[in-house]
Amino acid sequence: MQDRYGHRISYLRVSITDRCNERCTYCMPQELQEWLPREEILTFEETLRLIRIAAELGVSTVRITGGEPLTRRDVMEFIRRIPEIPGIKSIGLSTNGTLLAREIGPGETIASALRAVGVESINISLDTLDRAVYSQITGRDFHEQVLSGIHAAIAEGFKQIKLNTVLMRERNEDQLIPLIEFAAPRDLILRFIEMMPVSTTEVLDDKNFMPIQEAKRMIESRYGRLIPETEFRTNGPATYYQIPERRQRVGFIGAMTNLHFCESCNKLRLTCDGKLRPCLGSYLEFDIMKPMRAGASDEELKEFFVDVVDRKPEQHDFRNHYKPGRKMVAIGG
Ligand code: SAM
Ligand code: SF4
Repeated sequence: MQDRYGHRISYLRVSITDRCNERCTYCMPQELQEWLPREEILTFEETLRLIRIAAELGVSTVRITGGEPLTRRDVMEFIRRIPEIPGIKSIGLSTNGTLLAREIGPGETIASALRAVGVESINISLDTLDRAVYSQITGRDFHEQVLSGIHAAIAEGFKQIKLNTVLMRERNEDQLIPLIEFAAPRDLILRFIEMMPVSTTEVLDDKNFMPIQEAKRMIESRYGRLIPETEFRTNGPATYYQIPERRQRVGFIGAMTNLHFCESCNKLRLTCDGKLRPCLGSYLEFDIMKPMRAGASDEELKEFFVDVVDRKPEQHDFRNHYKPGRKMVAIGG
């Protein structure tokens, strides 16, 4: 699938729930804390069917997200079936990490189960190493669980583990260096993400918003000039750098300030309530659950996908007075 601007779609981000065990201020503001009713959520069978159809159209990478995907019941049974879909070459999961170390059987943790069902890459959110600040940001005192979760994931030898840090002036600007020092010996790729007005625009005021260039400058004043790694790409829009004199990679995701952010976008999103969303930062979304539940054939659903991709915008709308329509937690960041 290719859109009219030359974006080739090979990556499907699948949100399987709008529920979460945390309440991050930038993702789930107070006024949005209401869950969708169960019947409005795609069943796993329906989701697998849509992934299969996407794979037939050229999608080879799937990332499971949410809300917090590990809070959905039977998630392992669902993920286990994804590698059976022809064409899917890589499965990733985005998680807040709080449940990864949880034991689910003798010698078995959620992290080990994920590895066993075929997850190769795991992204874990960690905005700070300070427990009190972590609680303020996430609304929950789960910092220790997350650290245990990270270690549980490391022990399982995933192909790639990334830590995602959302930049917040005043809240975690003092954490950039500690997080780099935390990631280094553990061989984790750390990525700094600019806040986006997905759930609320309040996050963009000067007290909160911190551009990646500023983070980069702070890091360079400590370690020296970062070395661009133009050859290294994951599936996302991050730009990567090497810290001089050590083999450590850091990434920057500058959705708000990088004007080339959308150029290499290869993504399509499926929300947990069955909407195809061609761009995170655009209002456009198309209800594929409705025709599917009304009995559409695979061919008809394929046409639906192609049509949605055809409407993918050239770039996101975040810089144009974007007004959040629904919470990030429901879209699947
Ligand atoms: N619950 C999981 C987690 O926290 O990683 C997966 C879903 S979460 C929506 C995915 C990613 O989106 C997280 O790394 C989170 O920090 C990021 N995110 C959420 N709201 C954001 C916002 N307003 N701006 C930038 N990133 C955001
Ligand atoms: Fe939950 Fe992740 Fe959103 Fe935080 S960022 S509220 S952990 S879905």
